[in-house]
Amino acid sequence: MTNKCLTLAVHGGAGPLRGRDYRAEVAHMRGVVETGRDRLAAGASALEVVVETVVQLEASGLYVAGRGASPNTDGVYELDAGLMDGASRRAGAVAALVGFQSPIRAARAVMEATPHVLLVGAGAAAFAGAKGLARIVDPQAWFTHAGGGAGKTAAELATGTVGCVARDGAGALAAGTSTGGTFGKLPGRIGDCPIPGAGVWADERVAVSCTGAGEMFLRAAVAAQIAFRIRFAGEDLATAAAGALDDVGALGGEGGLIAINAEGQIAMPYNSAGMKRAALHADGRITAEVF
Ligand code: ASP
Repeated sequence: MTNKCLTLAVHGGAGPLRGRDYRAEVAHMRGVVETGRDRLAAGASALEVVVETVVQLEASGLYVAGRGASPNTDGVYELDAGLMDGASRRAGAVAALVGFQSPIRAARAVMEATPHVLLVGAGAAAFAGAKGLARIVDPQAWFTHAGGGAGKTAAELATGTVGCVARDGAGALAAGTSTGGTFGKLPGRIGDCPIPGAGVWADERVAVSCTGAGEMFLRAAVAAQIAFRIRFAGEDLATAAAGALDDVGALGGEGGLIAINAEGQIAMPYNSAGMKRAALHADGRITAEVF
């Protein structure tokens, strides 16, 4: 296969706890990356691959997003997702979305079928319904952590967002992030994930997806900060990503991010105990790790 520098990275959240068994997540992430690699090799766009990869992560129930999301203090599952296409700088997002299986599909529909970037709450749900997106019929049966199931602790449920960044054979970049938010959040709370420039970003130089303490990622404008460090300060990817994450740390926040640049380089820094992550590197290697 010619080296078209197809590259892809995913994360499954920055909330892993030492001493716990994450073999299922590591195996799942590796499989998801292999599928993404095959799609890219078959000519799929970075945007397409990012959406379909995040759909797989949401549907697995293994992470705190989509089916694995955790509820707010009212016991309601309000989900957030954001998507960005680097070449066109188009973006779509939903926040506090209730009742739909795939927030990232809703985000894509916002991007492609409206003049808007972000729809929230009842408006987002009405839109997703009008677009015929798959509904959740019975939340108690659907969500894997309903009633504290799946043996997850509150600490793990606090940060288990999923995300994907990809570079396709044409050199285009895309990023997507999807989350159930943080465990025990207030109704209506929205974190960094659906906000372009905070928890998700893609332009012609870099694509970023974040996970961690969303309030600090918002306050540090992490994803945009990385893009602007590269664009205006001439920093390389690793330096820009580490610098933005330092800003989160200075605010008292923990988390991590995955980022990919137009050259196909990947950075996956975190300042938390670990971060579930996997990547297809430019040389064809696939890595999948937690700590
Ligand atoms: N960043 C997410 C949020 O604050 C949480 C996470 O990454 O798991 O909503």
